[in-house]
Amino acid sequence: KVKDSGKNDCLLYSEAWDNSSLERLTLQHELKGAIQRGEFVLHYQPQYHLGTGKIVGVEALVRWQHPERGLVPPGFFIPQAEESGMIMQIGDWVLEEACRQNKAWQEDGLRHIPVSVNLSIRQFLQQNLTDKVANILARTGLKAEFLDLEITETMTMDVKHASRCLLDLTKLGVNISIDDFGTGYSSFHYLKNLPIGRLKIDRSFVRDIQQDPGDAAIVAAIIAMAHNLNLQVIAEGVENEVQMQFLQKHMCDEMQGYLWSPPVSGGKIAELLQARQQ
Ligand code: C2E
Ligand code: MG
Ligand code: MG
Ligand code: MG
Repeated sequence: KVKDSGKNDCLLYSEAWDNSSLERLTLQHELKGAIQRGEFVLHYQPQYHLGTGKIVGVEALVRWQHPERGLVPPGFFIPQAEESGMIMQIGDWVLEEACRQNKAWQEDGLRHIPVSVNLSIRQFLQQNLTDKVANILARTGLKAEFLDLEITETMTMDVKHASRCLLDLTKLGVNISIDDFGTGYSSFHYLKNLPIGRLKIDRSFVRDIQQDPGDAAIVAAIIAMAHNLNLQVIAEGVENEVQMQFLQKHMCDEMQGYLWSPPVSGGKIAELLQARQQ
């Protein structure tokens, strides 16, 4: 099976699981082993300020370093991990590893930036999420202001739970971003009432900015709305100059995309931060 082309760091990955039930069982079984053997790795994609070009954050993106299949992208195992509940263990590891790595960069004398971590719905719905996050911050020594949690619009549908949970998290000092903004089911009500810090414009709107006036209008409107609500806004999936210039013209705050960097190893992030420090 061929997966995403482009400058993807998962191109090493050759052989995918298909959707048959046998393959799904195999995957389930292999995922269990992968958790025990610790076969997951995090890559980090820089987020750039559109005005200064500086790195203002990184997003942690999980990969599975499979002994035979190579580097497996999250799209191939996160859905299964969510279905089976194994996402809880994987998610705990991701959260702790991202915080540990960010603290390590800081201790190496690099400029302090937040790390963004994707939460799955199951993680978001667990009762003790805030305690878990607080414990991880305490264990790793990372200050809460350097952790950003990405949730999707769909997770805010249970408004009661979402407001309780997000209030607790933001009381810790953690920032909340809405990932894939514009693609989920949501009401504007939550944008006004929940303690959200940032919107991430989904890359499907960014992709056709130059050809599709509808997408261009949506992106411009999201940026304007975000600013009027005092939210930061970042565009995902920026691949070319034309897209970047459009975003700059409309005063988008930040961008993330292959144009400036794909997801890379933690070591490479340290190099990028160092190079930009001089
Ligand atoms: P996402 O959170 O929206 O992450 C952005 C995805 O877009 C990443 O794919 C990234 O590699 C890709 N991307 C970045 N720039 C570009 C670009 O310019 N063009 C294109 N075409 N793609 C770009 P990735 O790493 O394969 O992750 C896919 C999804 O898997 C993520 O979407 C996220 O929903 C999920 N995911 C990744 N890591 C985790 C994790 O630790 N926990 C959970 N629950 N989900 C995760
Ligand atoms: Mg994300
Ligand atoms: Mg996204
Ligand atoms: Mg996503």
